[in-house]
Amino acid sequence: MDDGFELRGTHQKGEGVFATRAFEIDETVMVGVIDRELDRNHAHASQVSAERFVLHGGLVSKVNHSCEPNCGIRLNASGAHDFVARAPIAAGDEITFDYAMRNYSVDYFPARCRCGSRRCRGRITGWRDLPAQRKADYHGLVAPYLLEIDQTRTARPPAQTAAANPPVGRVAWWCRSAL
Ligand SMILES: [Zn+2]
Repeated sequence: MDDGFELRGTHQKGEGVFATRAFEIDETVMVGVIDRELDRNHAHASQVSAERFVLHGGLVSKVNHSCEPNCGIRLNASGAHDFVARAPIAAGDEITFDYAMRNYSVDYFPARCRCGSRRCRGRITGWRDLPAQRKADYHGLVAPYLLEIDQTRTARPPAQTAAANPPVGRVAWWCRSAL
């Protein structure tokens, strides 16, 4: 069966997930399924709330980061992350999202981001470090808990926000050879 995407090797970034047909804006490209809950964060974890980490099944965990992604995240009824097109996707395009749409903070390798987009911000950062304009660009297509953290932090005086830092969300950059 053709799901509309498949895993392929790339020259620059190791494996990636590529569209095998066109998708329109706002169309669900990949349906997220939670494989299992994790009792703590680890390399392949997806952060789905301030304190909850899961492992997504299928190819969702293989989708690469881009600073100019063609997909965003939408929470589905199962609590998993669907990838939804935020730009038209043609057959053969790599499916990408911004790790900052999912992880509040990111432990990144000292190497620079190699997404190659015109809007590359140089390194892969989490939501915490995303410029306000970029947050606005991603409106509606990020994990909802990120917005809740922002609201909580702006509602609290600075002395308390330092103590209320949520757990760090790691991304699996070390699983992707060139990131
Ligand atoms: Zn980049």
